[in-house]
Amino acid sequence: MHLKAVEINGFKSFAEKINLDFNTGITSIVGPNGSGKSNILDAILWVLGEQSYKNIRAKESRDVIFSGGKNKKPKSLAEVSLYIDNSDRVLPLEIDDIKVTRRLHKTGENQYLINDTKARLKDISELFLDTGVGKSAYSVIGQGKVERIISSSSKEIKEIIEEAAGIKKVKIRKTESEKKLEKVQGEIEKIDLIIGEME
Ligand code: ATP
Repeated sequence: MHLKAVEINGFKSFAEKINLDFNTGITSIVGPNGSGKSNILDAILWVLGEQSYKNIRAKESRDVIFSGGKNKKPKSLAEVSLYIDNSDRVLPLEIDDIKVTRRLHKTGENQYLINDTKARLKDISELFLDTGVGKSAYSVIGQGKVERIISSSSKEIKEIIEEAAGIKKVKIRKTESEKKLEKVQGEIEKIDLIIGEME
């Protein structure tokens, strides 16, 4: 799996649509202070379903929409897309090219899309679960994050290791299966009662 490109439109300091291509290997983004380097990382985290505005350095949802600048009017929509090469099938979809998009309208309407088809936040989370790329994974290390990881509690560090080792998906499935089992058990008890009354 490889992030091929990021398209940003109306997100934070990016008033106009920009397209950043990433080749394999290392890509460096350089620029003066305040030119928007960290906003690119915020944009990537945001598409991955980041719900904590603090983590993307905003106070509320609409802070991510371009709020106007030198001779530029505020935008009414923020949109970011990630273009991913999935030819190695690391992501659980049988397609080579995956596009993941998040949109936020000024009205507060929030949308996720996978290859231009509407999706839920749950679909985005499941797509990246245990791949090391999800919003809570450590593929995006912003300023100060290393310090935060070092000072995390042992429970939080255990969660980081579980995500990296691919255990989280199994744990979520186990909890879901336990809930289903409980439900079925309840149904069996009800049926037993009815049978008992009939005998
Ligand atoms: P540094 O090198 O200092 O860390 P940087 O290149 O990482 O800087 P960012 O922090 O990404 O810069 O960008 C900060 C800029 O983004 C500020 O000028 C800020 O005004 C602008 N900005 C943030 N949110 C918005 C928004 N919603 N609309 C317009 N501009 C915004």
